[in-house]
Amino acid sequence: MTSYVFPPAAHPAVPVEGGDVLFPVGRIICVAKNYRDHRIEMGGDDRKPPFFFMKPASALTPSDKVPFPADTENLHYEGEFCLALGPAQEDRSQFGRTSLFGTAVGVDLTRRDRQAAAKENGHPWERAKAFPGSAPIGMITRCSALPSAEATLSLSLNGEIRQSTKIGAMIWSASEILAEINAQFGLMPGDIIYTGTPAGVGPLVPGDRVEVAATGCRTHRFQMIAAPAI
Ligand code: MN
Repeated sequence: MTSYVFPPAAHPAVPVEGGDVLFPVGRIICVAKNYRDHRIEMGGDDRKPPFFFMKPASALTPSDKVPFPADTENLHYEGEFCLALGPAQEDRSQFGRTSLFGTAVGVDLTRRDRQAAAKENGHPWERAKAFPGSAPIGMITRCSALPSAEATLSLSLNGEIRQSTKIGAMIWSASEILAEINAQFGLMPGDIIYTGTPAGVGPLVPGDRVEVAATGCRTHRFQMIAAPAI
């Protein structure tokens, strides 16, 4: 019998609300520049469509303690509404080979200084976006429908609201995001989609307490902790 040459790491997974079960994560697909007010604060071009980048599943951290990463002098939070996709059900063809499993809130942690350098040099974004611990996420809440335009998303830093929006302010709606991902990458069960961040992003330091909340999602709280370099 063929066996692994060393034991594989535990499969990345996110707890599901209301039961002792885990959602097994395959890919983390993130939408960039999906809110106009965030594009403006970043000095971006408002006419181009949003686009995607990915983080490895191993970047997920459901923990309430998040290690402050090495390799940055300017770590930013980006509060985001997240979608979790499960296996296809019956005729849910709008989700490709998947179905909507649930929603959660997450934070797209970003080495803003490394991202600026990548943009300037035409380099990819992994150094800015895909480091270990770069994807804090709350518990997944099962749902049967995409969020309404009136649903809200907010992020607080040390008890003070820094980001607040209606989901309807997204440039690509949740259903448009799913259609685009399906066309570009093929939706797969286990996909977690970070749907983009509104204006109000800013820096974090060790000790900071972050709280992310959204309509229909379990509120997620974590603290940045000093940690040894990776
Ligand atoms: Mn983001």
